[in-house]
Amino acid sequence: MNETRSGTNGSVARVVVEIALDREFDYLIPDPLRAAVCLGSQVVVPFGPRMVTGYVVALCPDSDLAPKKLKPIKRVVGDHPLITPVMVKMARWMAAYYGCPLEQAVRTVLPGVVRRPDRSFKQVPHVLLALPPPGQTWPQLIEACRSRAPKQAAALEALQAETVMTQPRLTALSGATTATVRAMATKGWVQLEKRAVARNPFERSQVVPTTPLPLMPQQAESLATIQQSITTLDPAVVLLFGVTGSGKTEVYLQALQTVIERGQGAIVLVPEISLTPQTVERFRARFGDIVAVLHSHLSGGERHDEWHRVLTGDARIAIGARSALFAPVRKLGLIVVDEEHEYTYKQEEPPRYHARDMAVLRGRMESCAVVLGSATPALESIHNARIGKYHLARMPARVDHRDMPLINVIDMRVEMEREGRLNVLSRELTAAIRLRLEKGEQTILFLNRRGFATSLVCPKCGYVAECSACSIAMTYHKAPHQLHCHICGAVQRVPVRCPDPDCRDPAFRYAGLGTQRVEEVVTKVFPQARVKRMDADTTTRKEAYAELLGAFRHGDIDILLGTQMIAKGLDFPNVTLVGVINADTALHRPDFRAGERTFQLITQVAGRAGRGDVMGEVMVQTFTPFHPAIQAARRLDYDQFHDQEIEYRRELQYPPFTHYICLQLRGAEAEAVEAMGTRVMEQLIPRLPENIIAAGPVPAPLARAKGEYRYQCVFRTPSATACTRPLRTVLDSLKWPKDVRYALDVDAIS
Ligand code: ADP
Ligand code: ZN
Repeated sequence: MNETRSGTNGSVARVVVEIALDREFDYLIPDPLRAAVCLGSQVVVPFGPRMVTGYVVALCPDSDLAPKKLKPIKRVVGDHPLITPVMVKMARWMAAYYGCPLEQAVRTVLPGVVRRPDRSFKQVPHVLLALPPPGQTWPQLIEACRSRAPKQAAALEALQAETVMTQPRLTALSGATTATVRAMATKGWVQLEKRAVARNPFERSQVVPTTPLPLMPQQAESLATIQQSITTLDPAVVLLFGVTGSGKTEVYLQALQTVIERGQGAIVLVPEISLTPQTVERFRARFGDIVAVLHSHLSGGERHDEWHRVLTGDARIAIGARSALFAPVRKLGLIVVDEEHEYTYKQEEPPRYHARDMAVLRGRMESCAVVLGSATPALESIHNARIGKYHLARMPARVDHRDMPLINVIDMRVEMEREGRLNVLSRELTAAIRLRLEKGEQTILFLNRRGFATSLVCPKCGYVAECSACSIAMTYHKAPHQLHCHICGAVQRVPVRCPDPDCRDPAFRYAGLGTQRVEEVVTKVFPQARVKRMDADTTTRKEAYAELLGAFRHGDIDILLGTQMIAKGLDFPNVTLVGVINADTALHRPDFRAGERTFQLITQVAGRAGRGDVMGEVMVQTFTPFHPAIQAARRLDYDQFHDQEIEYRRELQYPPFTHYICLQLRGAEAEAVEAMGTRVMEQLIPRLPENIIAAGPVPAPLARAKGEYRYQCVFRTPSATACTRPLRTVLDSLKWPKDVRYALDVDAIS
């Protein structure tokens, strides 16, 4: 290899370019660039008539192409590669497993704000104090200026203390304007220079440092296991199964400390929804500035800077949602995935990777420990623990042996019979809220649907107001008085009478509950209570979420109601009651995970109650009180839930016993979409091993969205690649009509 490299033709770099082409291209490495081109380098290369950027994904001694046909790399961007060799390897693995183009996988491991060459550290003008003119001292000059040029005198005084500062700071300290500074520069008293500064997203927030807490025995035991994993990689993956309030975060914090003391770095993943200031603060309070936060709410510039702080090693702990998994942490010693069961770890756009699974992969590739934590582990993870792939560490009790909340299931069928109509709040829940208001305690009400009513129906002819582009009922929003489609965002006026020409009945009825309606009812029943709603509609402003939580924490809100935004990770000691308005919303989805979702949701919501000294109470309203998932949740009995659910999965060969793969096809004409689905299956079935269960094409559960018809083919397979490999071959070999497209989802979750 060395001989070829030193040959006159130079060696060859395999490059993926930043335009969607699923191919790698060979380029010559010209001699002057020999030292600069490495695996992962960002390079500029000629591509047809133009120059494009790309990434080196392999270095080879020579190419299959004749040397004359190879074009040379034009230049290398930056001093060192932004992607490490391990990341290149991960990108390759992702492309193969999830069936996506390599350059798409490369783009995933390297965020856009870093890739763009025009993004860089913010350049801020700095003012530097020069030497005083010969024969004079600064104090003399300042005195001389005092009456003639008071601003210059003030600026010199301020500069004397620090010699260099940013111009905005100088202005703040002395009142010096740009003109003042320029005048001083002309006299040679100061120099002006632009210097890079890292934008600090936490400039204005102060945190009180914390120290490690003495651990409870169950925490100490779990920590010891994780520490053993960090030092010996045996076990390599620890599943930390601790009930809500068992002190998992404190265990993470002390495990991170071990890693830092060993001179290593770490990644902490939390679901986007629980990446709250409260969560981030707990890590910053313990570790200060070595924590970098990678968050979609940061500005592009801030994200760029945080990412580079990680790359340079200034920050050694990266905390963030899904994509923080690809942070370029040096000497990675530990990856923590908190709330590992969360569905938001699955990316819904290609490549549809699962951050928990990728965390385990990265851990293996970089020889670092991985901790997956949850109060309601995914069935897949528990299964992996049972078959010995993960080590299970359990924390069954709450810190200080605080009681788990008492869970009451309220049968809404009985309630309806008793009251003669269906109320939003049952009698029991109403009484429980009243009691909290009297005692000055707080209540959380949970409903997984925003808007006022989930549909608008005509009681006479049965007409339902549907979106014209999606096969779904429009949701009625009261403020403003409109119909919204929650799939495509379309907005319609509310018709004054039934639009059906044969009906025209004016008596429209709102059916199905949304959070706006619950808010209205709660305010009416408890006029004295301070009620706030938290959902996607009330938190469109960036700060609204933090403000609402802050007000709740300060006790300025008695009843907080909302969607899944309030279900996760919140820790408010004064919340003693949690009400689930309708537990059935998640249960009746056409999804084999409906039971698991319902169990997880109730357990997580219940975990918000009774975190202080008073025992918490949970009220779950349902029309199916005897559903196994609801019964198991009532007893907070994970094992019972697991045992019954796993049997059902085994019988029907669903995950974790198989990989669930979904091929979705969509297009403007239903017939064309279905026909392509049929052709795929005709060609694919003969190539599939016998043990793969295949079905489709059938209309997707949401058969029409954003004006497109959707069909799907689903596969349950013991090995993912045994299915995706032949599937990709068929997909690539078929000639696709222009308006039919497909998306492949490996380990699909819905
Ligand atoms: P989890 O993440 O398992 O839901 P947390 O880590 O949020 O639990 O802990 C719940 C509460 O208990 C927090 O307020 C935390 O500060 C506190 N806590 C955790 N560990 C200890 C400990 N060893 N001693 C005292 N308090 C603790
Ligand atoms: Zn729509």
